[in-house]
Amino acid sequence: KPGLIPLARHGIHRERVSPGARRTCETLQKAGYTAYVVGGAVRDLIAGIEPKDYDIATNATPEQVRSLFRRSRIIGRRFQIVHVMQGNETLEVSTFRAAHDAETVKDEHGRVLRDNVFGSMAEDAARRDFTVNALYYDPTTQMVHDYHHGVADLKQKTLRMIGEPTVRYREDPVRMLRAVRLSAKLGLTLDPAVRAPIREMAGLMENVPAARVFDEMLKLLFSGHAVECVKRLRDDGLHHGLLPLLDVILEQPLGEKFVLLALTSTDARVKAGKSLSPGYLFATLLWHEVLANWEARKARCELPTPALYEAMDEVLDLQGEKLAITRRIAGDIKEIWALQPRFEKRAGKSPHRLLEQARFRAAYDFLALRAESGEIDQELATWWHDFQMADLAEREAMLLPES
Ligand code: ATP
Ligand code: MG
Repeated sequence: KPGLIPLARHGIHRERVSPGARRTCETLQKAGYTAYVVGGAVRDLIAGIEPKDYDIATNATPEQVRSLFRRSRIIGRRFQIVHVMQGNETLEVSTFRAAHDAETVKDEHGRVLRDNVFGSMAEDAARRDFTVNALYYDPTTQMVHDYHHGVADLKQKTLRMIGEPTVRYREDPVRMLRAVRLSAKLGLTLDPAVRAPIREMAGLMENVPAARVFDEMLKLLFSGHAVECVKRLRDDGLHHGLLPLLDVILEQPLGEKFVLLALTSTDARVKAGKSLSPGYLFATLLWHEVLANWEARKARCELPTPALYEAMDEVLDLQGEKLAITRRIAGDIKEIWALQPRFEKRAGKSPHRLLEQARFRAAYDFLALRAESGEIDQELATWWHDFQMADLAEREAMLLPES
């Protein structure tokens, strides 16, 4: 029996819900099914944040949903959901499902491998991670169905787990990262029971498939709250193990400054709705690893340029194992790195050729960040800034003499 929270208390007037989500619920309800907006969107609306997408939960099966909407398709093999297109919106419609039962398959660490059984609405609420994520909003009645006191927790700005946190982390270690990300996004305090076990259990992240860790990393880094997330991770000592990259980087003062600058500008871009390149961001995250590796090679008298390429490959191979960085992104990362030594050549034809590189802009932004962090002389970045702005004659005059 859920708590029924009225409009006066949760404040979500139906006009605030996207037209597509409203229409999808309405169509399902008219066909005799129950349907609610669920999860992050309800949470965000109550918190006064514009949801980035809408999930719908229903008692209709995927086939039944599919048959009600002309522009829809069933996706997913493990657990089927239906994508319903309404105007330029895509709604994710999923059938109530249960977890924690005989059919749930776990690995030897207790991690849930499969949970594809339909269930009741109450079971659907119980399988979700945090109380604030288990809210169901009915646009018709404007009531919120609240099984785990999520509305109260949200108002008290607390992130609380449904069930026993240690059990829920063992089922899915990614919930530790979600706890940090969602608390940063919503300005929530972690309930002590949510926070306490993370330090000890962070190592379980190693059992999570690399592709999923990579997805979660991207969500965290591109959340618009990356700096706050990293700060929270570090305050709690959680950057060890939880985020494969960060533990090493944040231990080196120059690396830390560089990464925080990069994340600050990423947050600003996200908030301004500008585009972002994962390659650029991962290039910054891993740069000081590359530098350290490269320096060691040069100290062993390897030739600088081949040594850089070796260092790049070694760092990417090592991180790639844990993160499943896609081939395409790895290519972008390498291009940015490989162009860095070329900024040092400021004589002859070389600067003109560098300007014509497809990835010049990203590589230059990267150079500017290196200067800002104190790794290299600001003078070099300023020179390149001016060189871009100058006309041809001015550029010729700027070139340094051939040595
Ligand atoms: P946001 O979209 O802002 O990143 P969200 O909470 O909506 O946050 P999604 O990944 O979109 O995150 O998940 C939608 C809903 O699915 C969540 O609100 C939660 O109810 C449930 N959920 C997601 N991931 C998990 C998980 N690892 N364990 C349990 N429930 C989860
Ligand atoms: Mg969501």
